[in-house]
Amino acid sequence: MNRQEILEELVTANRILAGEGVLDSFGHVSIRNPENPQSFFLSRARAPAIIEASDIMEFTLEGVSIGAEPGKPYSERFIHAGIYEARPEVAAVVHNHSPSVIPFSVTGVKLRPIMHMCAPIGDDIPTWDISHRFGDRTNLLVTEMAMGRDLAACLGERNVTLMRGHGSTVVGRSLREAVFTSVYMELNAGMQMKAMAMGNVTYLSSGEIATIEKGRAGFTFERGWENWCHKVGRPYVSGTWEFGEGYSRTDKTAGT
Ligand code: MN
Repeated sequence: MNRQEILEELVTANRILAGEGVLDSFGHVSIRNPENPQSFFLSRARAPAIIEASDIMEFTLEGVSIGAEPGKPYSERFIHAGIYEARPEVAAVVHNHSPSVIPFSVTGVKLRPIMHMCAPIGDDIPTWDISHRFGDRTNLLVTEMAMGRDLAACLGERNVTLMRGHGSTVVGRSLREAVFTSVYMELNAGMQMKAMAMGNVTYLSSGEIATIEKGRAGFTFERGWENWCHKVGRPYVSGTWEFGEGYSRTDKTAGT
């Protein structure tokens, strides 16, 4: 993909996340620059549903803008910078205020996968509390590099961290993976609250989670991405439809 194609993919990711209710007027998604892993692309501060390629800016891993400045950057770009700095394998970051997830950030009730599509959120989701290191005089926003680094440390090697009284941050080894996990985390949170209201919940086991995570591959991501592109009226650019190693044998045979 050339640079323009990458920016268009990021526009598509913004539209999908807005369309699926993960982002509203706020929240953001970024992608690491494949040609220069020491920088990443992120829109200027604007609602994700209306972002255009010309809104997208490039930042260093310290959150400093390089190149064109079409407008004011997001004050929370340090979330992305801190994670890209700490996690070289991460290719995309979504920061959201996904509404069904927030209650889990303030109650101590663990968000855990209850359905197979949601397995990659993992069963050990931490909650980052900005006040632990930065006191009670913040507005809860991640507005400096020290905060971004502290958040990245809490995330560790996981795919997801909650942020107390604020939202959550999701990472992926590809843009499609980060979007996919974000969409299904919101769904899991809503379903988990319903299930908990009904009675005792049987969560996915750690073995099931590991197997599903291993098997998640292009085939799964493309199926979701193509559908979501259709829903938001964006062109679908085909990725790799490979099967993951955990995919069922029957389907693997049928698909080749
Ligand atoms: Mn935020």
